[in-house]
Amino acid sequence: MTPILLIGAPVDSGKRRRGCLMGPDALRVAGLADALAYLGLSVEDRGDVAPLPLPDLDSPAHLHALAETIAWTGALAQAAEAAMADGLPVFLGGDHSLSLGTAAGVAAHAAKAGRPQFLLWLDAHADYHTPRTTQSGNLHGTPVAYVTGRDGFDGFPDLAAPIPAENTCFIGLRSVDPEERAALATGAFGLHDMRTIDESGIAAPVRAFLDRVAAAGGALHVSLDVDFLDPEIAPAVGTTVPGGASFREAHLVMELLSDSGLVTSLDLVELNPFLDERGRTASLLVDLTASLMGKRIFDRPTREYAA
Ligand code: MG
Ligand code: MG
Repeated sequence: MTPILLIGAPVDSGKRRRGCLMGPDALRVAGLADALAYLGLSVEDRGDVAPLPLPDLDSPAHLHALAETIAWTGALAQAAEAAMADGLPVFLGGDHSLSLGTAAGVAAHAAKAGRPQFLLWLDAHADYHTPRTTQSGNLHGTPVAYVTGRDGFDGFPDLAAPIPAENTCFIGLRSVDPEERAALATGAFGLHDMRTIDESGIAAPVRAFLDRVAAAGGALHVSLDVDFLDPEIAPAVGTTVPGGASFREAHLVMELLSDSGLVTSLDLVELNPFLDERGRTASLLVDLTASLMGKRIFDRPTREYAA
């Protein structure tokens, strides 16, 4: 049995509003390890990764915490690549800038193993800016650009194995700015915004992507941003956008991923416990992760009948 490795990534440098550094502990308190162990899985909590020493560099004035994000990227890429040899890592974020490291690290491992790397980005945003194009200066909006090999990441670790655009699928998009939209159009990305999902359902694009991963014998990294979910069910995020995935849509994605058996690594990102309501967002992430790892929601009796 592939062990599940919980790896804390308390990264808070990717944007100005603080709080995501508490995410790993909130997910632990919400019972992530127990929920997975309950499914009969082998679970090991490897604690939190620490960033590398800060690089000495002149940061462009518009970028927020560039040196810190570079230091995290190096550490997490190493941690992710190493973890892939031991099991299925679940990276507990931390803001989305952690995926500069985790997705780069898992892709490096896949390249050495001779497998194509695929990336499923569950997010309201495309996170396809570069340090040169970002208007906000918040580097949590850049990881897809970095791991797919876009230029403009001066000072970041060299990328061992860029993930091809055609292996990258976005689901849940509803906040993409014009520069990003134009840049995304130049690649062969799978782009599925909420309108498509409203019109045709969420299962079809997930199934089509998973068929491609399976046909290629690929490794699959899933990056789940809290803002993929509708803020009504997941309030604990600094970048809420109305109109996100519903409870059932989110669970259905996780169940399809589980059925496929293709997921080789997972990020849980942008949980800001400071903004949560009695832990409900952290608990939802735990439930979704359990769904992805094999739990079936209809196994659970309703409260009225449980007693
Ligand atoms: Mg994101
Ligand atoms: Mg987002």
